[in-house]
Amino acid sequence: MNAPAAATHSKGPGTEGPQALFFDGTSARGQAVRLVVQGPHLVARPLPTDTGFGPPEHRWPLNQVQWPERTRHGQRTVHLADGSSLQVADTAAFDAWRAQHGPSESWVVRAQQNWRGTLLALVLLVLVSAAGYRWGVPALAGGLVALVPAAADEAVGAQAMESVRQQWLRPTRLPAERQQALRTAFAQMVAQGWPPGGPPAPAYTLHFHAATEALGANAFALPGGDIVVTDQLVELLAGQDDTLLGVMAHELGHVQYRHGMHALAQFTLLSTATGIALGDFSSVLAVLPAWLAQMGYSRAAEREADAVAARVLRASGRSPAVMVVLFERLAQRADAEKVGPELPIALASHPADAERIRYFREAANAPNLK
Ligand SMILES: [Zn+2]
Repeated sequence: MNAPAAATHSKGPGTEGPQALFFDGTSARGQAVRLVVQGPHLVARPLPTDTGFGPPEHRWPLNQVQWPERTRHGQRTVHLADGSSLQVADTAAFDAWRAQHGPSESWVVRAQQNWRGTLLALVLLVLVSAAGYRWGVPALAGGLVALVPAAADEAVGAQAMESVRQQWLRPTRLPAERQQALRTAFAQMVAQGWPPGGPPAPAYTLHFHAATEALGANAFALPGGDIVVTDQLVELLAGQDDTLLGVMAHELGHVQYRHGMHALAQFTLLSTATGIALGDFSSVLAVLPAWLAQMGYSRAAEREADAVAARVLRASGRSPAVMVVLFERLAQRADAEKVGPELPIALASHPADAERIRYFREAANAPNLK
């Protein structure tokens, strides 16, 4: 058999596809064509007219063709870079032709084709979001904090201290000699906890303040090393100086690990992400000054601070078990007076859960616990 004449044509017959209507982008009138893939080109070949002389064919490089997404309903429209388009009514023929000769569909489109794919995509989205919140934000915040020089902690802490002082703190009523005794005892304890030859103790400044009723018996640390102990906490732990010193060591642990800066970085990242998502960045800037009142330390941060307290108590010849007294007395007091959630980084806002009590009891019996 002889090959058809057209097969010897330099361009070849190409692979014929379905009929389509060609719109040149200016005229509303479509022109009937047949789609052909010919080498690296998509060709719209006008259907033969009665006279045998039709308008010229159109061709576009395949990589400039914007293929339609496959949907369950509706006709297929192919958009071309020059503004023209091709509409195909026979969707089944188009999909079959394209599957065989056109560029392959992305996995996204295939996944969208069935509900299992949609469900899977949804589950993946939830998992990725949850993972991002659980690990991504803390990791990113940690990376940010590592880039921030320690000197910035002091600037941040000083500003926070100022707003906390105005809102929650009043001048202390503790006798000067009582304050001095506690300062001296804590300094000795720190010296024993961070002995010469090892890493230096984090710098800190101890402040005694009476607290507003909302803050009550409490202690907290700010970036840069300001540690605040309220008169009410000193009174709550009357006769239990070892426990009070353990609380201070816990707060110094927050300073050592820069937990305040981590919390601030996380808060800023989440606020920024929210602000970007909402398209309103000014709301982020407005909320930043209030960061201290809104953040809390993570459980992981509390565990680290507790570990510092246990280690330093032990290094100074005290039992970590003295911390149990704190949780017992806080629990007794909580029945009598209500403590507001105004300052989540403050000690009494931490849940005095069984896990922490168990930790300090076990730390007292584990000689090599770090
Ligand atoms: Zn804490």
